[in-house]
Amino acid sequence: TPLVAGLDTARSAGLFEAACKLIPGGVNSTARATWSGWSPYPLFVESGQGSRLTDVDGNEYIDYLLGLGPMLLGHRPPRVTQAVVDFIQSRGTVFALPTADEARLAEKIVAAVPSVEQVRLCNTGTEAVLYATRLARAFTKRNKIIRFEGMYHGFSDGVYWSKHPSIAKAGPDDRPVAVPQGPGMPKGVEENLLILPWNDPQALADAIAREGDSIAAVLTEPVMCNTGCILPRPGYLEAMRELTRERGIVLIFDEVITGFRLGLAGAQGRLGVTPDLSVFAKGIGGGFPVAAMGGRADIMALVANGTVSMAGTYSANGIAISAANAALDELATPGLYEKLDAVSDELRLGLGKVLSEAGLPAYVVGLGPLMQVWFAKEEIHNYRDAERRADQDIFRRWWQGMLERGVLFHPGAYENLFVSTAHTREDVAATLAAAKQVAADLARS
Ligand code: PMP
Repeated sequence: TPLVAGLDTARSAGLFEAACKLIPGGVNSTARATWSGWSPYPLFVESGQGSRLTDVDGNEYIDYLLGLGPMLLGHRPPRVTQAVVDFIQSRGTVFALPTADEARLAEKIVAAVPSVEQVRLCNTGTEAVLYATRLARAFTKRNKIIRFEGMYHGFSDGVYWSKHPSIAKAGPDDRPVAVPQGPGMPKGVEENLLILPWNDPQALADAIAREGDSIAAVLTEPVMCNTGCILPRPGYLEAMRELTRERGIVLIFDEVITGFRLGLAGAQGRLGVTPDLSVFAKGIGGGFPVAAMGGRADIMALVANGTVSMAGTYSANGIAISAANAALDELATPGLYEKLDAVSDELRLGLGKVLSEAGLPAYVVGLGPLMQVWFAKEEIHNYRDAERRADQDIFRRWWQGMLERGVLFHPGAYENLFVSTAHTREDVAATLAAAKQVAADLARS
């Protein structure tokens, strides 16, 4: 059976079959796998340009997948591409010695994000989170990390727990138990984790009252982006800030998705809550692998004096540094975020209108160029709400209908739609026209 009836994706199907003989599951990351929604096979990509992506069968899509976030400036952003080409042609890639460009990049990050006094660079969000949690443990001399059900902080052993557990096996709503992502996670790690429902200040206050003296860090996305898009309830992040400050717990914002997307100062700037440490990745590299971990100078001092080791052959390599320097220069263009938000708002409000006018029980949640459609009758504030209230079957048909009409996003209801600076009002208008047809079909069936 084809990926979507009515769309010729035969070459993708053939390439997938061949790839499966050599690559387990045919893909190199879980979010592209059949079990993540790309069933019976993922699209194989020929190329991307700006807001568009072309698959190997020659179908062109308006791309809201955007590489799961990194292509904030669209595909092949000219300034970033040119900077990388220039750097690798004229200077090199890896030296195992610093370059002046690293400090220039650090200066831009520090200037953009007030809570970041110092910053270390690495390659992926997974790495940056691992560093942040290790640093928090070293700084506080405590062991436990609070993390929230439904979030994702990379695939390392210490945090790849309770992303999307079966709630039948995950304990009571207010005191979830830690559920490993799968087999192979070392036993005992969960003793250093405390899993909580998000958006529940009482559950957090109770946990900190019970175990505050052994809690090193609260690790959270400031906007939940790994169970669809869920906004913090008014006052929740502020309560989190207060509760952690009172007990000397390090507050870590995982801004891998939100950072440099919701504004130059990320979600923390937009929502006005200041963490102790922050992690950035997808927003800063213009599509190239680069990540950053930074925050309070007194905490970062443990890295400065060698107490906490952060290593990496490829950290701050020439490609990453030249790409991020160019991307951040581009993002500093006056009016860029205002325009990005305006185009995104048009999409978010437009989709909401189309779905409600069709009479579907659906709404769109998001902030700026980050959003997701929920097919649900009631509001969703955390992972268990989503599990209980969101209709995954309608979401799938919505995704299929949109793909058939040339609009690409991830087939998973727990992923996001991303808008880039390359998306135009014309792209949005075309997307809404497609959505209108799909919504009408869904309402009829
Ligand atoms: N944190 C968050 C919030 C993420 O969404 C992701 C990736 N989707 C990561 C961390 C891991 O980043 P990476 O894939 O670069 O390791």
